[in-house]
Amino acid sequence: MLKIERCYDSHLHLEATGQIDLTLKLQHLRTLADLKSLQFSPTDFRGEWLTGFGWDQNSFLDLQLHYSHLDLISQKFPISFSRADGHCAWVNSVALDLLLRQQLTDQEQMQILKDPQGKPTGVLLDAAKEKLEQLIPPYSKEVRRRFILRGQEILNRAGFTHVRDMTWDQTQIEIMHELEQEGLLTLFVEGYILLSHQKDLAEKMNLARRTRQVSSKQVRLLGIKLFYDGALGSEGALLSQNYHGKHHCGVRLWDQDSFRKSLREIWTEGFEVATHTIGDQALQDVAELALQAKPQGAAVRICFEHAEVVQEKSFSLLKELSAKLYFQPCHYLSDRKWLKEKLGPLFDSVFPWKKAEDHGIPFYFGSDTPIEKPDLFANAQALVLAAQEGIQPPRAPWMNYHQHPDLSWGSGCWTEIKDNQVSQVFFQGNPLFKKP
Ligand SMILES: [Zn+2]
Repeated sequence: MLKIERCYDSHLHLEATGQIDLTLKLQHLRTLADLKSLQFSPTDFRGEWLTGFGWDQNSFLDLQLHYSHLDLISQKFPISFSRADGHCAWVNSVALDLLLRQQLTDQEQMQILKDPQGKPTGVLLDAAKEKLEQLIPPYSKEVRRRFILRGQEILNRAGFTHVRDMTWDQTQIEIMHELEQEGLLTLFVEGYILLSHQKDLAEKMNLARRTRQVSSKQVRLLGIKLFYDGALGSEGALLSQNYHGKHHCGVRLWDQDSFRKSLREIWTEGFEVATHTIGDQALQDVAELALQAKPQGAAVRICFEHAEVVQEKSFSLLKELSAKLYFQPCHYLSDRKWLKEKLGPLFDSVFPWKKAEDHGIPFYFGSDTPIEKPDLFANAQALVLAAQEGIQPPRAPWMNYHQHPDLSWGSGCWTEIKDNQVSQVFFQGNPLFKKP
């Protein structure tokens, strides 16, 4: 039997994990027939919007990523379906019209994809997707509590007692504190408040200060999370070269001045910064900006999420910043189909866990659930398969990178593994599951 102490998923989205399990799933979409036979219920609506998650155009056969296909479901109510990476929305004409009637920034305009005639196709990337989401009525607190409890159950079943959550807002923090007080929280949760725009910085910092004041054993705020680029699957990750055979290299979601200013302000109050950087240019940009923003001689805390492509020259900057990296090897299992094709020569710089280790940069493994399944063994398998393509594994056994490093946070938490399966999880000394 194998035992993992403080079994840790170091990058995930807790509420979304439950939400996606309890709402309309689109992972199976291949054909027009699949789309036409899609079964949805009243609970899949938010207000009048039909929403769903999980399509991947790489699996489409006769299905087209165009609003006209979603119009076959309805031209009466708005529809928004999120891609499996969460960075792209596919909408019908009703939703598209609603979006086009808004005041849009240049960046939002640009991220509404157009056909060769310049007409919107109904596909929205990061900033445009986010703008659209502001039009969709939010879930009630009661529903969100159900999502969080479901997410917790999924994570406990997968063996995790410690998680690092990347997308906190005020309501989620409140719900987790309530669950802890009621004795229903069976996770140690640390996390970040998401900051999407500099204009929201003051509000987010206020929330961070208030959260820091609440004393809690199981819930702790680390800092603020910022997205610097998009995802590789939808070609939003910012690369140092064009996507292979294409004329674009991804998106930069922040202007450099506001980014530096935000870093300074977050650090001044002693919070940590976590940055979503998938592409090599995103990571290099952020490392340079962080070094410019860092006060002379002061120690700052900065984390790089995903870091799927990293240039050799970036490692010395990471070292200078005492940065930490957060990898999800399981992304390799999903991305390997097209990774070489999209990246061309940059493929030599993917998944640099061994290189990070050689440079003495600490890193942890996670799943990014619900983008990938929270599955310890998928990460283990990814390391083996990646090694076959020349991506060297780190020296220590994979489970070492799934242990929460803080020995004093959550004693009596361990996970037992038999025959490549989680057999029992102990939380603060007590087993979470009945023996079969
Ligand atoms: Zn994530």
